[in-house]
Amino acid sequence: MANETHSLTQEQLNSWWMPFTPNRVFKTNPKLYVAAEGMHMTMADGRKIIDATAGLWCVNAGHGRKEIADAVHQQLMDMDYANPFGFGHPKAFELAHRLATEIAPEGLNRVFFTNSGSEAVDTALKMARAYWRARGQGEKTKFIARHKAYHGVNFGGVSVAGLTPNRKNFGPVIEADFLNHTLLPENAFSKGQPEHGAELADELERIVALHDASNIAAVIVEPMSGAGGVILPPKGYLEKLRAICDKHDILLIFDEVITCYGRLGASCASVATGITPDIITSAKGLTNGVIPMGAVMAKQEVYDACMQGPENIPEFMHGYTYSGHPVACAAALATLDIYKNEKLFERAGTTAEIWQEGIHRLDGLPYVTDVRNWGLVGAIDLEPHGEPGPTRGQQVAAKLLEKGITVRAAGDTLMMSPPLIIESSHIDQIFDAFEAVLKS
Ligand code: PMP
Repeated sequence: MANETHSLTQEQLNSWWMPFTPNRVFKTNPKLYVAAEGMHMTMADGRKIIDATAGLWCVNAGHGRKEIADAVHQQLMDMDYANPFGFGHPKAFELAHRLATEIAPEGLNRVFFTNSGSEAVDTALKMARAYWRARGQGEKTKFIARHKAYHGVNFGGVSVAGLTPNRKNFGPVIEADFLNHTLLPENAFSKGQPEHGAELADELERIVALHDASNIAAVIVEPMSGAGGVILPPKGYLEKLRAICDKHDILLIFDEVITCYGRLGASCASVATGITPDIITSAKGLTNGVIPMGAVMAKQEVYDACMQGPENIPEFMHGYTYSGHPVACAAALATLDIYKNEKLFERAGTTAEIWQEGIHRLDGLPYVTDVRNWGLVGAIDLEPHGEPGPTRGQQVAAKLLEKGITVRAAGDTLMMSPPLIIESSHIDQIFDAFEAVLKS
């Protein structure tokens, strides 16, 4: 596919060591974005592409939102930076309060700021250990996570990640054990949360017995995994995890880096499902993806436990130079205003029905082995062709790009998570393109 390099030299192309990208392949045929607006990205050759992934699950209010740009500009002029260690600024407190009252489920009312989802995960893991230590149970250090999980790329997150390629080259990690994932063949072509598999949560009892609850700090799961291939929680599954954690006095962490901020038709998956964890991690949609920022929302008892001990020293020896960065806070506040004023979470819930109809038009098409959706999320599994080179999923993604749609291919799974402003005309365009490509 023709795609100009925007006058970049090969040396310039070689200089950026790109993340999660096959660099050598990319640099022989670079795909460059040069502009973005609303539902679309513009490529270097001038073609406008429907962004069916909202960037990387983050541009929930659509690209190029002037309200956010204005807030960022104003904040840069008013106060570009403020040291967060021992000092505060009003917008960070205002934002924390809005997250506690408008986004988190009831009870998670203490908010810690990070700069990414990976940092949010590592912060949450440290909070869990610090909580037990503060309560005199410092031996509760192990984590239980899940196969195929993605929790970012820092060492904590990699330790609890169930995607082997993301950890196998990096040596020793911290101790964790793993539950099975919940992608079951009997749930193929399900709509919303699948019917079968709640009992998979019972495996947690076996793992707890193996390690003993006195050694376990927390269970961490994505209520819906994204990077692992859009893996949905069967009905009743998260409820069971919550009950087993309660029974054994183990904290439950929901990694909501992709599910927070409206994608499932509610502020977060916890609110959508009615299951309240002890800690939630979030990022991405918090600032509509425009400024890096994450937020960890914790139950007050987690915060309170850490507040014991002598005054005049920091209670939680953790934080980042850019925690609660004023410009990120301004972007987040403007983003929350858009979500609220345009009722985007409710809108996502309504549009999800049209999305569901659209994506299930693909059921029964050649090579399609599963189609699943929840809220404004969708995944299509294709039959592998079993030959070396690009997977069938990658081949289909490349054809879709030629037709003006960008989706994410993980092996033979194609994933989508469009901006919440998506309209039915875009949904038609996306699935018309899919039908055409799969039939050809
Ligand atoms: N947790 C989950 C569930 C994610 O999906 C991601 C990113 N896709 C992360 C953590 C890491 O976020 P970041 O890339 O901002 O570090």
